[in-house]
Amino acid sequence: MSDKSSNVVWHSESVTRADREKRNGHRSLVLWFTGLSASGKSTLANAVEEQLHLQGCKTFVLDGDNVRHGLCSDLGFSLEDREENLRRIGEIAKLMVEAGVLVLTAFISPMRKDRERVRSLFPHGDFIEVFCDASLDVCESRDPKGLYQRARAGEIGEFTGISSPYEAPVNPELCCDTGKGSVEDNVASVLELLRQRGVIGE
Ligand code: ADP
Repeated sequence: MSDKSSNVVWHSESVTRADREKRNGHRSLVLWFTGLSASGKSTLANAVEEQLHLQGCKTFVLDGDNVRHGLCSDLGFSLEDREENLRRIGEIAKLMVEAGVLVLTAFISPMRKDRERVRSLFPHGDFIEVFCDASLDVCESRDPKGLYQRARAGEIGEFTGISSPYEAPVNPELCCDTGKGSVEDNVASVLELLRQRGVIGE
């Protein structure tokens, strides 16, 4: 994308991210959930958020379907539009991390290079990729919104896993078995990782 704002100068803030984190009593970062449709990204992101919220953390879930109603309503599902969708979400997540929030994102984000591009927006350690690992068979048998059935019938084009690719993460910070594992166990793994990294207390 061309840069049409090259004359805009970054305004330095007087209240910094570090000030906000200190006030909040926890670090901010992004937990980036990736996986096929119906692999459990939203379920897991929301369940983790609930626990973090109970512990008094500042949190926010950015969800695929929700941003597509507003911020990204002009975008479709071509690989090009998916790339722009994720670029915008990455920038929003970055602002929210600056605001001191623990951001949880639930986007299929099928392409490795798009996820790596978002990762590169963040200082090392502030982007945690969580692979929601459920097979296509499992996701298709769940089909909570009937999307797989419609994709198989040819009513939805460019559907991830059917007619559009999904590139599984090679080296994610965390891999959750959201196919056979329980939501509770998956939540526990994410919280354990956050504890290990000193993001939340014991
Ligand atoms: P996505 O956000 O990846 O499209 P959703 O979270 O909307 O997926 O849907 C996943 C479906 O799978 C839900 O109906 C959820 O109840 C079910 N499910 C079953 N087991 C799990 C699990 N271990 N983790 C997450 N979701 C699960």
